[in-house]
Amino acid sequence: ETRQSRQRAWVEVNTAAIQANVRALQRHIGPATQLMAVVKADAYGHGALPVARAVLEAGAACFGVATLAEGVQLRRAGISSPVLVLGNLTQPEELRSCLRWQLMPTLSSMREALLCQNLASGSGRTMAVQLKLDTGMARLGADWQEGPRLVAALRGMEALDLAGIYSHLACADAAPEEDDGLSDLQQRRFESVLSSLNEQGLTAGCRHLANSAGTLRGHRQHFDLVRVGLALYGQPPAPHLAGVVSLRPALQIHARVTLLRQVGAGVGVSYGHRFRTSRPSLLAVVSIGYADGVPRQLSNRMDVLFDGRRLPQVGAITMDQLVIDATEAPRIEVGSLVTLLGDQGGESISPLDWSERCGTIPWEILCGFKHRLPRLAV
Ligand code: PLP
Repeated sequence: ETRQSRQRAWVEVNTAAIQANVRALQRHIGPATQLMAVVKADAYGHGALPVARAVLEAGAACFGVATLAEGVQLRRAGISSPVLVLGNLTQPEELRSCLRWQLMPTLSSMREALLCQNLASGSGRTMAVQLKLDTGMARLGADWQEGPRLVAALRGMEALDLAGIYSHLACADAAPEEDDGLSDLQQRRFESVLSSLNEQGLTAGCRHLANSAGTLRGHRQHFDLVRVGLALYGQPPAPHLAGVVSLRPALQIHARVTLLRQVGAGVGVSYGHRFRTSRPSLLAVVSIGYADGVPRQLSNRMDVLFDGRRLPQVGAITMDQLVIDATEAPRIEVGSLVTLLGDQGGESISPLDWSERCGTIPWEILCGFKHRLPRLAV
């Protein structure tokens, strides 16, 4: 009996696939550009520590996390590579922890810079930081036009080491026919800051702009480093970017059939009877639900894979269970494995498929898998 066979449902994570993706992405960006592995949100649900160790082995240069706790988790596990906190840290306590754990905070304002300078100089240490500029996302970052002035000010703060300058693309995954040129505009704004720094003889460390979509779009947005999340996990950010680099999906979701029921025609299934059988049917109850991260909005709109073929999910997805119509699969048994995300035979179902069916994005699907589901590395 394998470990898997004792689970009712689980997330299978293929770290070799993630390593292959790092290598494929590194070939795409070339040797002059480094790869930052974005491992926030528990590595998009794949497990931060196993992913961090795997990508380091495959050549990732550094890490991006969203919160202080995510950075500390890497340090406590003995990972010593550079870590950039992509989210904003505003409390002196948080910034003090950055110093202690050698995590780089992102600065979006003079206020944050002064706070870091005071804390670092007060403890007689130097603090590595990165400056973020808003070139069109209107979220974090200082106005890009303030860039040269801020870099000059930061360079004057002797307790700060300005290790990088970056911005973030808002619409890099837009399909070509919907691209209104924002990514190009953001790139030109970023470049104009860099050239005025050049003119003033100011350096700002590592320069970076691209997320996964920016990385896949083309080389002009790569600069010194790319910050890759979704593509690292083998998921394309949008259908038109799927073929640019050959990526291997790293995550599969499997669950077990726990009960089989033969019912007649006209039987209402699950809460609200949102599905009614149109013929005598074999229903299979599968032990996974929305509390595990299967979006309830997929009720009656998703398939699962069994024995290399698709079977429709029917009725409302409930907290811990969902029902599939297995009439076409008489070989199904209690204990049979069904695959919700992943591949079997020639069939595959991706987070992008789910997201398109329920009006969200693959990022949210991946982050939705709860710790109630064990992660099994294969
Ligand atoms: N850079 C920043 C600042 C981010 O917030 C994120 C994630 O949203 C990423 C890079 C990685 O994005 P993606 O998963 O699209 O590669």
